[in-house]
Amino acid sequence: MVYFAVLRLGHRPERDQRVTTHVGLTARALGAAGMYLASADKYIVEGIQDVVDRWGGDFFIKDQIKWRTCINRWKESGGIVLHLTMYGIPLQDIEELIKKSDRILIVVGAEKVPGELFGLADYNVAVTNQPHSEVAGLAVVLDHLNPTALVREFPDAKLKVIPQEHGKRTDTG
Ligand code: SAM
Repeated sequence: MVYFAVLRLGHRPERDQRVTTHVGLTARALGAAGMYLASADKYIVEGIQDVVDRWGGDFFIKDQIKWRTCINRWKESGGIVLHLTMYGIPLQDIEELIKKSDRILIVVGAEKVPGELFGLADYNVAVTNQPHSEVAGLAVVLDHLNPTALVREFPDAKLKVIPQEHGKRTDTG
């Protein structure tokens, strides 16, 4: 079982609320254990914690994270660090190598990321070498690296979707 976490850099509370929330929700839904936010934003923490409380599982969300310390501690614990960037090596060219690790920190930016990150990361990984989004990049990487990304259980859920061919149905527990 691989342990994934996400580190979100460059979040601007006045501008990135929606995208950062979607980074967190995507991380949770597709199998990461939690998200570290390298900014102070209690609204992001509260919003994602509310989803966890209602939809289950034990996803963590921590803000005010010192990103260099987070990366160094992750490496000291034997994990590897993937920095998602359009400038990197295509995912498909290195995913078999990356899969050898059982602790993977996935770093995504918002605005321009500090140049030193490219040297700190074990792998600078591109999901195509085209500009798009941290949410899309994260989703594809988790889908490729996490074999249980699409078939996860969320214990203690108060809300659960009952899949329907047509229409919407939820079970409120
Ligand atoms: N303009 C910023 C820069 O050049 O650093 C990046 C803006 S981009 C919308 C925000 C984040 O999306 C990036 O830091 C990266 O993590 C992710 N991203 C965008 N395109 C990507 C790609 N093709 N592959 C992997 N990640 C990507």
